[in-house]
Amino acid sequence: MKLSKKPLSIVLIVALVTTMIFSQLAFAVGEGPLYKGNETINNSRITTYEEMVELLKDYDEKSDLINLQVFGQTVKGRDLYLVKFGDMNPNKPTVLFLTQQHGNEVLSTEAALNVIRNLSVNSKNSKDLASKINVLFIPKYNADGGEADVNFPLENYYGGGLATRYNANRIDLNRDHTARTQPETRALHSEVLSKYKIDYMIDFHHQGTTSAVDDEYVSGSILYPTNEGVKPEVVQASRKLGAIVYNAVESKGFGKLGKYIGGSANTIARNCVAHDYDIPTLLFEMRGMIDNEWMDAVLGQKSNGYLIQQSVVTMQAVMNALATGEIETVDDSFWETLTEQGSKVTE
Ligand SMILES: [Zn+2]
Repeated sequence: MKLSKKPLSIVLIVALVTTMIFSQLAFAVGEGPLYKGNETINNSRITTYEEMVELLKDYDEKSDLINLQVFGQTVKGRDLYLVKFGDMNPNKPTVLFLTQQHGNEVLSTEAALNVIRNLSVNSKNSKDLASKINVLFIPKYNADGGEADVNFPLENYYGGGLATRYNANRIDLNRDHTARTQPETRALHSEVLSKYKIDYMIDFHHQGTTSAVDDEYVSGSILYPTNEGVKPEVVQASRKLGAIVYNAVESKGFGKLGKYIGGSANTIARNCVAHDYDIPTLLFEMRGMIDNEWMDAVLGQKSNGYLIQQSVVTMQAVMNALATGEIETVDDSFWETLTEQGSKVTE
């Protein structure tokens, strides 16, 4: 196109700048609008429990590298699935990815299914990975809450009650890791954490929409175990796990991470698993969630693709860092400057 030598009109300049600003917003941030009563809340593209079970059985059947184990049942009798990639040789490093302890925090389950599908393809890459590492997935851990099949009403939820944080008994599973009063927590501890040699764990959550750093919404936040009884070397390894995640997500353009402000109680998995089993852990909180009784927690579905991808990138980076050994050597000094997130409420 031949450029005009005439100065651009004010109208044109305004139009150009506006376009630039909006395309920046659309492409750089990857953080769709808050619900605020006028965005779409919809779970039609979210994998249901039954669909997930079918997929997992299919991957198990077609791949020699993947095995399924039912390790317990939910309150409502749904089977809890452990997906095992690799031969589980305890001499190989092993990572556990736990998703959806809170039933309304769904997108990391979608990511896990995406990653499991890729691993189930008998490719050179998956065979190579399986020769070096083991990966455990517990997708949709709070299956009853995820299906909204619970013994209490959800009528005040903004999305109509698509899913809830709690299990069917209205217990927050991520506050039950020391008491272990629920079948889900008992099964996780007795059949998985006590039985497998696990070297790292990431616990995937969603944190609502308003968390921000430097007045910009974050795509997520991370934190290592902070209970004072956790061994220093376990904290150190957890911080390195965080560095792998931080480097991978921040390099992608759609990721902006803050430091999660979290408690030190061992009732939560991030602390308990590090404390009781000496397993380095990372909490990863994605932006938004699919439904809630608090409007500002709920994110319209426009961001789902980016947020799923953020978890996919995380899982892939950790698997690769385990295979190469980078997880032991990575520089974790970013933690010293990672900003604790605050809250930004607009309008
Ligand atoms: Zn959560």
